[in-house]
Amino acid sequence: MDSTMVWEPQPREHKTNSFGNFTNFVRRSFRRSGRRNSSTKSLSDSNIKPMMPCRNFEIDNGVIGGQRSPDRHSYEQVAEPVWKSHLYQVQLKAPKPQRVVCTNHFSNKPFQYGKEYHGPISREEADRLVMQKEGCYLIRESQRQPGSFVLVFNFSNQPRNYKLYFDTEENQHYVGEKRFETTQDLVADGLITLYVDLNAKDYIEHMTLNAGPAARPPDQQDFRTTHEQTLQRNTPTRPVYNTFKASDCEKAHNFKTHSYYGPHWCHYCRNFMWGLKAQGVRCQDCSYDCHKQCSTIIPNNCSPDRKLVKRVFGVDLTTLIKAHDQKRPQIVESCVHELEKRGLELEGIYRVPGFADDITYLRNQIDKEGTVPDITEQAFDDINVIAGLVKSYFRTLPIPVITFDLYDQFIAAVKMEDKSDVLKALSTALKSLPPAHYELLKYFCRHLQRVTKYKDRNLMSGENLGIVFGPTLMRAPDHLAMEAVGYIPYQKKIIQSLIEEQDVLFER
Ligand SMILES: [Zn+2]
Ligand SMILES: [Zn+2]
Repeated sequence: MDSTMVWEPQPREHKTNSFGNFTNFVRRSFRRSGRRNSSTKSLSDSNIKPMMPCRNFEIDNGVIGGQRSPDRHSYEQVAEPVWKSHLYQVQLKAPKPQRVVCTNHFSNKPFQYGKEYHGPISREEADRLVMQKEGCYLIRESQRQPGSFVLVFNFSNQPRNYKLYFDTEENQHYVGEKRFETTQDLVADGLITLYVDLNAKDYIEHMTLNAGPAARPPDQQDFRTTHEQTLQRNTPTRPVYNTFKASDCEKAHNFKTHSYYGPHWCHYCRNFMWGLKAQGVRCQDCSYDCHKQCSTIIPNNCSPDRKLVKRVFGVDLTTLIKAHDQKRPQIVESCVHELEKRGLELEGIYRVPGFADDITYLRNQIDKEGTVPDITEQAFDDINVIAGLVKSYFRTLPIPVITFDLYDQFIAAVKMEDKSDVLKALSTALKSLPPAHYELLKYFCRHLQRVTKYKDRNLMSGENLGIVFGPTLMRAPDHLAMEAVGYIPYQKKIIQSLIEEQDVLFER
């Protein structure tokens, strides 16, 4: 076998990363911290975020296996450092890539490789060449599979062979998930990953345990808060509906793998995010940066930044109201206000479609500006455009107002025979909605109830509005897509009940 797909360390012959050796490593570093050594200098000289005190003593802050340095007490008077640089220092010690140059000429040399390409040499020969020094690397053509290529490099005095791929569209090299512009970067990242894994595996496994009070974005940090306060913060209570505030809503972060330029630290565990690429994940809504490992245990405390949540249509409801710090989306409030001013008596309100071009124009304006433009009669005399706009807002929600995960529960509720059972089950289902969804549904159903008060003139009864808003306020989740048509009458009945029975169903 001359290939593996990921940076997996081979079985280790020397267990150099056991606790004992790790602790010795930490202590050695600790002793050195008395004088500002060169790694400290390089830290402060590089383009690191200004909020990073780079004190070496922090690496012995008692994380590992509960072992604390005997010298620790002498630093008790000093504030805890914010960022833990141990992993940064481990990364600095990782071997650097060293190209083994080949001077032979190959007529069929692939264009994407340089002098590190050695042609179809044997695996043994390649291994011998890279064994000159740690970090040495070269590329060979596989003798068993001509036309495929193998990256060979020396890590920990062992030759490593990986099947090497090239994406011709993106011009990028890869052996696993991460893609690199040069093979040198690929090897550098591989060496870092293997080195950090070999020397800090135990540290990494434990780093999230000690995340502590600063498990929030740095601009909100107060690392002197008590443990009790931390616990409170991490277990937010469900908001009481009648004092609903957007800021009280729990919201999960919206993480995506991110490549950082320059050194970056995890906001959660405060440790360095190692590697050359895809070192961690970044929340797309609030810019919270953390290790992938930490992202799975972070509390749902995302505070979306309005600058990052640029659009209105198609944005998750909780994200939108938190970003704008509003009880409910301004778009819905503005449209409801306008509809109640001049639409209540209009025949077929919400049923008659508005002019699609006008609706699209308004949507684009709102997404661009983040606020609702003039939708008064002077600007848009056809109120059906405004009705169409609000329906369009509900339809484009990525998670409908009646959420996918509660869809079954709502349908089951309305299938019951006894009316009081239906109301009881609907009330229970409503209480399970995320607070932002509950609040908006309550608000909008109150509005729809006012619409039905004019049903003699507008011909929109609760049942008719149920037909219009059934598929707008709720959508079947994918696993029920096949049966969804059969659920349309139930959706209608649900919305009709929410409109007609809202005094019973919703809290005041
Ligand atoms: Zn976030
Ligand atoms: Zn972390």
